[in-house]
Amino acid sequence: MAPTPPLSNLQTRDLASVVHPYSPLHKLDQMGPLILESGNGVYVRDTHGNDYIEGMAGLWCTGLGFNNEEMIEAATAQMRALPYYHQFSGRGTEPAIELAEKLKEIAPVPISHVFYTSSGSEANDTQVKLAWYYNNALGRPKKKKIISRIKAYHGVTLMAASLTGLPYNHMDFDLPFDGILHTDCPHYYRFGKDGESEAEFVARLAQNLRDMIEREGGDTIAAMIAEPVMGAGGVIVPPKGYFEAIQPILDEHDILLISDEVINGFGRTGEWFGSQSHGMTPTTISVAKQMTSAYAPLGAVMIPEFMMDALKSQSEKIGTFGHGYTYGGHPLGCALGVKAIEIYQRMNICERVRSMTPLFERRLEALKDHPLVGEVRSSGLLGGVELVADKATKRAFDPKQGVGPQTAVHLQKHNLILRPIGDTIAICPPMIIEEDELNALFDRLELALDDTEHWVAKEGLR
Ligand code: PMP
Repeated sequence: MAPTPPLSNLQTRDLASVVHPYSPLHKLDQMGPLILESGNGVYVRDTHGNDYIEGMAGLWCTGLGFNNEEMIEAATAQMRALPYYHQFSGRGTEPAIELAEKLKEIAPVPISHVFYTSSGSEANDTQVKLAWYYNNALGRPKKKKIISRIKAYHGVTLMAASLTGLPYNHMDFDLPFDGILHTDCPHYYRFGKDGESEAEFVARLAQNLRDMIEREGGDTIAAMIAEPVMGAGGVIVPPKGYFEAIQPILDEHDILLISDEVINGFGRTGEWFGSQSHGMTPTTISVAKQMTSAYAPLGAVMIPEFMMDALKSQSEKIGTFGHGYTYGGHPLGCALGVKAIEIYQRMNICERVRSMTPLFERRLEALKDHPLVGEVRSSGLLGGVELVADKATKRAFDPKQGVGPQTAVHLQKHNLILRPIGDTIAICPPMIIEEDELNALFDRLELALDDTEHWVAKEGLR
């Protein structure tokens, strides 16, 4: 590892006082945190004056980049008019109403109501609570288990982390909770068997799901949750026909399908929702992140009329619907959600993403010639590059060798921010990215991969 320059005053203060989520806490002293101070379009600037292409849109979320003036004005106007109000006890605000109406307008399936949260994790926790409440309303108290998938990411609150299918989110946190079942991850490159076609892989996964449901009893399972394209598990694009194969099995057992669109939503895959790009017909939907372009925290759960009716009937029986968050439906977030969707509509965001996708795919595809690259995958402007020790056998590096994290160090040196997920490099630029910026992103990624290749050779990691 290159010697780290002396830490700045801000970096030292940061390390003395801040716990960084999802970080190697034991190594931050040595690496030094990266402190950002401003943003412009797809660029962010650190406190040393270095500009980076933010190729991850922060955490897959700043679809409109880092200084959208209309968004700033919408936020300012809302702060002046009413900086806070809540949704409890039948209270409301105009931005919350307007955003719910907009979400219904763009929804891929019939949606009648919207429940607000402050984050994606809270949206997914709410999904589980609603599925339970719904089944209690229907007099099916046993129908409560939730199916998720290995490598899924649904957040980090206790239930959302239980739904998540990644070891770091479970190990040493005493998770997952009972009643959460993890079925296969639909990653053909990694989990397809030798000689198995993609269609056979899909059929095997569907059969495994059917076996799991029959083993557990369909009358004990409330819902399955799935990201159309898995994000934080490594940008895993499902094979053709995957959702079409599993959906009838869920329907047979009256199991709701929850689409976690927290990353996929609002144009990212070239449609308003990833479920539309990947043959999925969900019952309910979780959204957050790009809904406000992340200019303020906000999440939401979108539900159909028959669920709303059940919630009402159960609330009537017991007196109230006892769930809600202080900041759910915050007027600042809702005003920003309304404005972001208005901008996405005006700029034809799906069309725009689709028009940039051929360049994105071409540049990704070209990386396959690189000695480190085992697979590239993408959907719209969401991509992943999986690095391997041996391309022919797909042999992965030992995670302890830290090839992905070291690549992130090289990327940063070339003024590009991407996210290593193990040895997969995720790419998810703001959706406003222009062609020359996208080309610059890939040029820098290529330089960083060359640096990693030299480092791997020098350290003898193969
Ligand atoms: N679901 C998905 C698909 C996500 O990617 C994330 C966050 N990366 C979440 C849920 C959790 O969202 P939050 O961090 O806002 O709680």
